[in-house]
Amino acid sequence: MALDGKTAIVTGAAAGIGHAIAERFLRDGVRVVMADIDGEKGARAARDLAALGEVHFVKADVGKTLDVHNLVASAMDLLGDIDILVNNAGIVHGADFLDLKEEDFDRVLQVNLKGSFLVGQAVARYMVEKVKKGGPAGAIINMSSVNAVFAIANQIPYSVSKGGVNQLTKAMALALAPYGIRVNAIGPGSIMTDMLASVNADPAARRRILSRTPLGRIGDPKEIASIAAFLASDDASYITGQTIYADGGRLPL
Ligand code: NAD
Repeated sequence: MALDGKTAIVTGAAAGIGHAIAERFLRDGVRVVMADIDGEKGARAARDLAALGEVHFVKADVGKTLDVHNLVASAMDLLGDIDILVNNAGIVHGADFLDLKEEDFDRVLQVNLKGSFLVGQAVARYMVEKVKKGGPAGAIINMSSVNAVFAIANQIPYSVSKGGVNQLTKAMALALAPYGIRVNAIGPGSIMTDMLASVNADPAARRRILSRTPLGRIGDPKEIASIAAFLASDDASYITGQTIYADGGRLPL
C-alpha cells in the first residue's frame, strides 16, 4: 500500500473527520499519533483503533505553543519519525456580526489558523532537518472548508480562519517546496460529524444544506479521509499548495 510504514500526526482526532483519517491511515499501515484537546475522548478513540495498528494518543491544544512542542516531541519519542501531518483540529462559533465577542473571534482563529501554523512549523522544522540529512520529504495537509470561499454571516471567525488556512497552505507550500515537502489542504462541504449534528437535527437547516448540494446528500468523514490518504501518498507527488474541495458539487456549480 502507498502509505505502508509511514508515520503521522493527526490533530483533532478524537472525533469526526480526524478520527476517520486516523482510522484510514492505520488501515493503510501508517503508525499514528492522534492528538486532541479532549483527553478522555482521545484516549478512548486510540484504544478503540488499537486493533488496526500502532496508535498513540497525546493530549494537546493546538493553539498553545507549549502543548504543540510537547505534541511533536512526544510523537518523535513514540514513532521515531513524522512523515505526515494532518492539521485537522477545528472549532466553530456561531454569532451575528454585531454580537460577536472579541474573545470568541480570537479563540476560533487561535485553534483553526494559528494552530495549523504552530503545529505545521514545529513539524516542518523536523521534516526539513530530515531532508537535509538525506531523508525522504514529508507531506502536510491542512483542513480548510468550503467556507474559505463562501462566507457565512453568523460564522465570521470560522470563515475568516478557513480563508487564512488556504493562504497559509499556499505560503507553507512555497516555503517548503525547496525541500520537496508538499503542503495541501482539503475543503470539505457538509460532512456528518458532531460539528454538523445540530444543523442536521433541524429539518429546515438539513433541507437547506441538501438543496445547495448537487449530489443531494451529506458527506461521510471517510470521504475526506480518502483524500487525506491520497494527498499524503506519492500518488500526489506533483501536487502542492492546492485546496481540494470535497463538497458534493456545491462550490463549482
Ligand atoms: P468535530 O467537532 O467532530 O471534531 C473536531 C475535533 O477537534 C474534536 O475531537 C475536538 O475535541 C478537537 N479539537 C477542538 N479544539 C481543539 C484544539 N484546540 N486542539 C486540539 N483538538 C481540538 O469536527 P469535524 O467536523 O470532524 O471537523 C474537523 C475539521 O474539518 C475542522 O477543521 C473543521 O473545520 C473541518 N470541516 C468540517 C466540516 C463538516 O461539515 N463537518 C466541513 C468543513 C470543514
